[in-house]
Amino acid sequence: MTERRGILVVVSGFAGAGKGTIMKKLVSEYDRYALSISMTTRSPRPEEVDGREYFFISKEQFEQNIKDGLLIEHALYCDNYYGTPRRYVEQQLDAGKDVILEIEIQGALQIKKRFPEALLLFVTPPSAEELQRRLIGRGTETPEVIAKRMRRAGEESEGIEQYDYIVINDDADRATEETHRIIQCAKNAPLRNNDFINLIRNQLKALAKGE
Ligand code: 5GP
Repeated sequence: MTERRGILVVVSGFAGAGKGTIMKKLVSEYDRYALSISMTTRSPRPEEVDGREYFFISKEQFEQNIKDGLLIEHALYCDNYYGTPRRYVEQQLDAGKDVILEIEIQGALQIKKRFPEALLLFVTPPSAEELQRRLIGRGTETPEVIAKRMRRAGEESEGIEQYDYIVINDDADRATEETHRIIQCAKNAPLRNNDFINLIRNQLKALAKGE
């Protein structure tokens, strides 16, 4: 079979759901995935490296990038801009890779509108208690921040039906395997195979005429 163009996979989920872990595993275990690196105006956290977790840029640079059409989506989240650079995504899709965007819901919905064939996944822990346990277990956040994140998770849960699939992260290895299977199955949906459908229709017509 001819090599198909890759698909865009949007992954959202509550802070603490473990989506970052799943994405890293997916990329390290299967070479067919490419992880997009976003631009943001927020400051780097101590362990973060410019160009690895994010491209950290100023608000002015970010607004210029929006004007120049260099982002395929962007959103304001907790007073900072976040956005996905167009160039890398298109290069990787053309190279046949499935490109993963780990973004929040406003960006996810923009992607769905601009690229109806994009696949939207929502990662959640098995229960709210488990989410709270994981946030406390990180040991890096104050009780106020944890409470704020839990409230935000409640708001974000209202948008889950906008996604195509949910992944319940009860175990990172299992959830990674499941995410891989969902993505690869979803690639066989007719809306992601328009070229093939048109090709076979034309072939059928041509053969019918020749009879
Ligand atoms: P954090 O500051 O904790 O790294 O990320 C905050 C939120 O922004 C997360 O939900 C993350 O998925 C989301 N995010 C990261 N990059 C992008 C992006 O390029 N676009 C959008 N819309 N959201 C992003």
